[in-house]
Amino acid sequence: TRNGRVALVTGANKGIGREIARGLGQVGFTVLASARDRRRGAQTVAELADDGLDVRFLQLDVTEEPSVFAAADRVEAEFGRLDVLVNNAGIANELGVAPSLTVVDDMRRVYETNVFGVVAVTNAMLPLLRKSEAARIVNVSSRLGSISQQAAPNTELGLFMAYASSKAALNAITVHYARELADTPIKVNACAPGFCATDLNGNLGTRTPAQGAKIAVELAVLAADGPTGGFFDENGPVSW
Ligand code: NDP
Repeated sequence: TRNGRVALVTGANKGIGREIARGLGQVGFTVLASARDRRRGAQTVAELADDGLDVRFLQLDVTEEPSVFAAADRVEAEFGRLDVLVNNAGIANELGVAPSLTVVDDMRRVYETNVFGVVAVTNAMLPLLRKSEAARIVNVSSRLGSISQQAAPNTELGLFMAYASSKAALNAITVHYARELADTPIKVNACAPGFCATDLNGNLGTRTPAQGAKIAVELAVLAADGPTGGFFDENGPVSW
């Protein structure tokens, strides 16, 4: 049964984002499954709609300002508010590049999507989230974004600086928004989906995208007494 609430997921055409869209549809949301590519997005939406879910396509490239603004305008015109925003879209850099060999433009590209894209989409959608009675923002981060893990000995994360540091920045951004919004009903949390088989890692992940999506869906439906400004995986808080 529908719950009358509206959720937007970025990068929902495949991988974990598609499963987050499915999961939110299954708990009754009208889901705006957004994707940068119309054809890929429409195909996923058709599949999810075939399962009886209220899922609709919305074009949204998180790195293209006109696309972000147009998406916000469409949500405003159709619904007048937004109840859940899941910032899921993300990219990784090539694995195995030492910090000293990192090409700044490659790093900039990762940050454009994983960091600046989140800020652009969040800021565009915030006026709509403020109109919801219990809005939730979920930022899909990564355990690799944990600075304590990046600093741990015997870690390979040094060879993944652009991606890992982009998720550390995303975690910090999560805290900043949670602070600004502390006196509103809006809760802002980051999650770590775990190592899931998706195109991001050449499908080497050991978990299914559906397993990874679960924590994001949980944070999207947090009760009023739930946390804000935190970083969680399915077992609870993850260390910064
Ligand atoms: P996928 O590569 O399968 O999916 C990434 C999604 O993001 C795709 O839909 C992609 O669209 C979309 N995307 C990329 N760039 C943009 C953009 N500029 N605008 C809009 N959408 C964009 O990866 P995952 O499902 O694995 O990744 C989803 C999130 O989960 C990411 O934030 C990732 O960092 C995070 N994560 C993943 C883990 C894993 O093990 N898989 C572990 C920890 C975190 P398109 O098809 O057009 O490229």
